[in-house]
Amino acid sequence: MKTISDYFGSLVFDDRVMKSSLPTDVYETLKKTIDVGEQLDISVANAVADAMKDWAVSKGATHFTHWFQPLTGITAEKHDSFISPSPDGGVIMEFSGKELIKGEPDASSFPSGNLRATFEARGYTAWDPTSYAFIKGKTLCIPTAFCSYGGEALDKKTPLLRSMEALNKQALRILRLFGNESAKYVRSSVGPEQEYFLITKEMYDKRPDLQFTGRTLFGAKPPKGQEMDDHYFGVIKPRVAAFMEELNEELWKLGILAKTEHNEVAPAQHELAPIYTTTNIATDHNQLTMEIMQKVANKHGLVCLLHEKPFAGVNGSGKHNNWSIATDTGQNLLSPGETPYENAQFLLFLCAVIKAVDDYQDLLRISVATAGNDHRLGANEAPPAVVSMFLGDELNAVLEAIENDTPYEGTKKTQMKLGVDVLPKFNRDNTDRNRTSPFAFTGNKFEFRMLGSSNSIACTNIMLNAAVAESLKIYADRLEGVEDFSTSLHEMIKKTIKDHKHIIFNGNGYDDNWIKEATEKRGLLNYRTTPDCMPHLLDKKNVDMLTGHGVFSIPELRSRYEIMLENYCKAVVIEANTMVSMAKTQIAPAVESYSVHVAKAANTKRAMDASIPCEYECKIVKKLSALLDRISIKADELEDAVLSLDEAEDIGSESVMIRDNILGLMGELRLACDEAETITAKKYWPFPTYGDILFSVK
Ligand code: ADP
Ligand code: MG
Repeated sequence: MKTISDYFGSLVFDDRVMKSSLPTDVYETLKKTIDVGEQLDISVANAVADAMKDWAVSKGATHFTHWFQPLTGITAEKHDSFISPSPDGGVIMEFSGKELIKGEPDASSFPSGNLRATFEARGYTAWDPTSYAFIKGKTLCIPTAFCSYGGEALDKKTPLLRSMEALNKQALRILRLFGNESAKYVRSSVGPEQEYFLITKEMYDKRPDLQFTGRTLFGAKPPKGQEMDDHYFGVIKPRVAAFMEELNEELWKLGILAKTEHNEVAPAQHELAPIYTTTNIATDHNQLTMEIMQKVANKHGLVCLLHEKPFAGVNGSGKHNNWSIATDTGQNLLSPGETPYENAQFLLFLCAVIKAVDDYQDLLRISVATAGNDHRLGANEAPPAVVSMFLGDELNAVLEAIENDTPYEGTKKTQMKLGVDVLPKFNRDNTDRNRTSPFAFTGNKFEFRMLGSSNSIACTNIMLNAAVAESLKIYADRLEGVEDFSTSLHEMIKKTIKDHKHIIFNGNGYDDNWIKEATEKRGLLNYRTTPDCMPHLLDKKNVDMLTGHGVFSIPELRSRYEIMLENYCKAVVIEANTMVSMAKTQIAPAVESYSVHVAKAANTKRAMDASIPCEYECKIVKKLSALLDRISIKADELEDAVLSLDEAEDIGSESVMIRDNILGLMGELRLACDEAETITAKKYWPFPTYGDILFSVK
């Protein structure tokens, strides 16, 4: 029997393969590029390309592709075959360093948000050697960044790499201040927990809403939902277990460290978490994971739903971004240390994150903004749209002691003087599990929980890395060259706590009182929807910070603003159109047929005996006729509202029209249809109900 270690990473051109297949000098040079970003010359690239091709061909690959992450949110690839004609009429397999380093896909059909003038259709992809190449099907996939010829990033990878570099630069400045001369680089790591739904393909194929929009747009509440709490961590059904087994195998072959899997709160909902890794690799892996989940599900006659809110009234799916920063020597900078110096350094990094989250609440909110995620945030199943941080009682008490110059009432009473005293050891288990906080400290990392299940984790980590780099820069600017380092550090940390403690909230984030307190007393931001938050991407403070660290240029930011709002508008318009079509061509005719059937029944009875009152039939027919009228009116209104979007002057006002007019009408149309569903005989209803879908996988 094959064991996991036999095939783990077998489809990845990883360090093991590089070491064994590359000449030593080539390997050493490439390794330097991977570790510290040194330029690679063409002769080395040629050697790497050649080895990569031989390896890929030996695994059955016939094509290669530059694999990239355009702003559509999914990944893109264009396959080229390795074949090249040989003089004898045959073919040889070829792949050059030039082809490895740079590709030129036609960029004109990818969203650019006006970045790329239409006459300049070309963009180029550039190899990201820090993320290993891998084989998918018969294609060698080379992870790349995607840029316009003007050099603007047309993808999510480029700004992510830039944000990692910004964080690296500022974190190293801080480490040097603490006397650390040995660390060569600092990187952020991420472990994303991914939630998803599994339903049968048979159900999916009967629901146009699922097919066109990824979520159900109609559906009355089933008699049994998630109220029994019997699904979370419950026994995994055989069909799901078979899916998970194959999924794990596929992920392991790609070197993706899929680690835990379990049932989630809602029926048919599950979760997969990998072991954390460097952020850009974790991002690539998460994109691949989502893709492979869908592919493997299909093979099992299932459909994997990654939408944030596939079913109203049932918990939606999120993604938890577990994030930390560490040195190349393996020191986690968010882990409290053993010595006073390490502890002071830990507190500085902790404060940098606190300051970053507070100063850039808006950017974090923006980083998870999609039409789908707007349904989840603040719906008492996921964190609210207000960003706050959970630190736990123990750490909170330490910060209070520092702020007020009072003794820390921990295990033993100690006056906190940074750089002098040893901090108490924070027991990981003591970080009580607050599951309602958007941004929770969990012992040696932060868990950002606002992401929607379909979000690319790139956006969040770009903002997080950049915002923390900004805090660290401010700290380093202040501390470099001071005479009394300990005192200055102590004062600076104290000031951070004073200035930013309003972002710290250790209570229940789902409580309505919290939202009141957060917005009214603490002045925290509460952007409920995508159109509310998106314009703030272009606020001066955000533009200054992001351009200051070279993460985005101003045109790149404008393009993101355009594209994210465009995506929002398109998603809702497709939903509205799908609703209108389903209401008019499926629901209304079904309701009509059923009422005719009932009316006929009454007529038949009365023909037998005119004195039969037929109260039941009359009641149903009256009710359904009234609902039918309402459905027809609301469907027309919604249709008109969508047409009137043409009058919007720009994407910003279109998104506001959608938020203010379209969403409400969609809700009203749905209400009438869902009510009709509860009265109409099941065999007349044109598609499977929530109960059918949610309990379809046996
Ligand atoms: P849970 O949140 O369910 O308790 P874990 O604590 O095991 O689960 O971790 C959840 C995710 O956090 C996993 O993907 C794990 O690899 C990741 N993780 C653990 N430590 C770190 C770290 N230092 N940096 C980033 N992610 C981490
Ligand atoms: Mg978690």
